[in-house]
Amino acid sequence: MVVTTDEIETVAVIGAGQMGRGIAAVAALAGYETYVNDIDEDQLEEAREEVEWSYEKTIEKGGASEDDVEAALDRLTFTTDQEEAVSGAEFVTEAAVEQQSVKEDIFQDLDDIAPEDAILATNTSGLNITQLAESTDRPEQVLGTHWFNPPMLMDLVEVIMTEYTPDGVADTAEELVESFGKTPIRCKMDIPSFIVNRLMRPYGEGPAWMVYRGEHSIEEIDSAMKYQEGFPMGPFELADFTGGIQLRVEGEEDHLEDDRPMAYDTEVCPIVKDLYEKGRYGRKADAGYYDYSDQDEPTVPVDAGYGFDPLLVWAPIVNEAAKMVQNDVATVEDVDTGAKLGGNWPMGPLEKCDEVGADVILQKLTEVASRHEDTDKLAETLPCDLLVEKAKNGETFY
Ligand code: NAD
Repeated sequence: MVVTTDEIETVAVIGAGQMGRGIAAVAALAGYETYVNDIDEDQLEEAREEVEWSYEKTIEKGGASEDDVEAALDRLTFTTDQEEAVSGAEFVTEAAVEQQSVKEDIFQDLDDIAPEDAILATNTSGLNITQLAESTDRPEQVLGTHWFNPPMLMDLVEVIMTEYTPDGVADTAEELVESFGKTPIRCKMDIPSFIVNRLMRPYGEGPAWMVYRGEHSIEEIDSAMKYQEGFPMGPFELADFTGGIQLRVEGEEDHLEDDRPMAYDTEVCPIVKDLYEKGRYGRKADAGYYDYSDQDEPTVPVDAGYGFDPLLVWAPIVNEAAKMVQNDVATVEDVDTGAKLGGNWPMGPLEKCDEVGADVILQKLTEVASRHEDTDKLAETLPCDLLVEKAKNGETFY
């Protein structure tokens, strides 16, 4: 037997870092007894302080009353004792460091300690959830619940199923997410990067190749995407902000060994490798695509992007979105919701496709692909059958 949503009263969060503390703050404020476990006592203390601080901010913004917050704090327990945290929890979510082996060890422990009917979730950003499920004796009760940073403010949670996850368990996780006041989207297959980060990848990758080949400048593309299209940040500004250069290069080996469906097999753009080798990881390193030695944010000129066609960036993203729909990874609505709530994009890629027409997207995709001597370097540019079909029949996604 697996718990149903109504039976969930206690939630345990493993890992009290940036994400774990935020998830715990949300769960406790939503009325759940919440345990937060970490191996590091200092992290737990910091987590407690940050939860209190975020609750104060929530009161200031009118999102909760003093009484709500007092009750939520009473429901929170911070502990280094994993057994204390997990033994009475019907829903456990792991938010420890992003390392497969660490997570597998944790899942084996959770499987031993958590109640038999408990659901075990992971907040991994893209590691292999199927392998985590297989490291337990209850693979059908393991799934991904991928939150966005910071959990108190970001509305979206991706619910990721593996081949073992029955619909009922995913339904329970989604209902739980809704009871937290968040919006779930369902990723029906354990694919690298899941839905939102899957869309983010071509947003960074395509523009990097354009700059590498000397076709467009960083400022030109960032300006067009930010000021003409309404993205919160241009692709280069975003990569610097998130440390995308480091993530892309260091994650490459894992990606090449990944045997899940829709695994990536594309090369890292040489410009990204070059920045990585120079230690230009982005904002935290004081340098990335932009220089941050005497500015916190890059100055992106408002009018620099007028000569640039934003559809050249959109087209590979639309293609990636269409591939997810074609492979029954996600619905049209969930893909677009993911982009809008997870990335704060002005519209979803499939909405964009309907707006400009699949034939136009296909034409732009062909243009992007033709610029690569070896198109395998940017597999996102090879159009999927669904997109070709939509273009041929003049159909829309909605
Ligand atoms: P973090 O480094 O801030 O925190 C990780 C915490 O896990 C640390 O406090 C560490 O002491 C603890 N930990 C390590 N091993 C542990 C163990 N065996 N038992 C209990 N605690 C342990 O990391 P984070 O940014 O909070 O990320 C956590 C997870 O969430 C990762 O899988 C990450 O990929 C994912 N994620 C992060 C973000 C983000 O923007 N930071 C967004 C979505 C998902």
